[in-house]
Amino acid sequence: MRRSLVVGNWKMNGSLESNKTLLSDVLQHWQGVHHAEVAVCVPSIYIAQAADMLGNTNIGYGAQDCSVHTSGAYTGETSVSMLTDLECGYVIVGHSERRQYHGETNQIVAEKALAAQQAGLIPIVCVGETLQQREAGQTLAEIGSQLDALRRVVDDTALASMVIAYEPVWAIGTGLSASPEQAQDVHSFIRSKLGSVAESIRLLYGGSVKPGNAESLFVQADIDGALVGGAALVADDFIGIARAAEPAT
Ligand code: PEP
Repeated sequence: MRRSLVVGNWKMNGSLESNKTLLSDVLQHWQGVHHAEVAVCVPSIYIAQAADMLGNTNIGYGAQDCSVHTSGAYTGETSVSMLTDLECGYVIVGHSERRQYHGETNQIVAEKALAAQQAGLIPIVCVGETLQQREAGQTLAEIGSQLDALRRVVDDTALASMVIAYEPVWAIGTGLSASPEQAQDVHSFIRSKLGSVAESIRLLYGGSVKPGNAESLFVQADIDGALVGGAALVADDFIGIARAAEPAT
């Protein structure tokens, strides 16, 4: 059985003070989350703060991006060894905002995922279609080509320790979540593309997940948790989503 995973993506939000309040609130109201794995991916500059506050808790932490390079003249970048130095457990790669605003290609995303996996991080590899692609009936073709690029770079052994997040671009930050059925259809397609590791790999849904729609998404057969943006900045909402990911008793 795949363990549920809920990951907060803070994006470029926060300050030392507001992060402290948010993480303290999450830690204080944590009761009721026993089985789901939960983590926050914070801006790199705040990883040390997350390490201080979460280091001895069962909430993991990580980054929102990493470099494909190991070290050297790459101004502004963060290497995977820097992330492991601060004991990060996770790194998001290929978020649609990185693809859109920083020109990240499927090839770069795949190389980042491999670099992260080889360093011992859990890469959360984002895939998803734009509204235009969905309306043109190209959703599965687009996701298929994103996954094909990943599988050309990453073998099954490496893939087994990765997480894939399906994030329809039109659902991110818009309040327009994919319906559970729409999400399940794509998740089932993604799983069918994963060869020998299909049954063990965790597939997250991301795009306007809130406490009110989390459960209906998580009961779908191929949805193993969520990547959460806006709602991860509100302690009660984030915990509500994590609780919805607890297995039914
Ligand atoms: C995201 O940024 O990965 C995301 C899913 O954002 P939101 O939950 O705000 O749609």
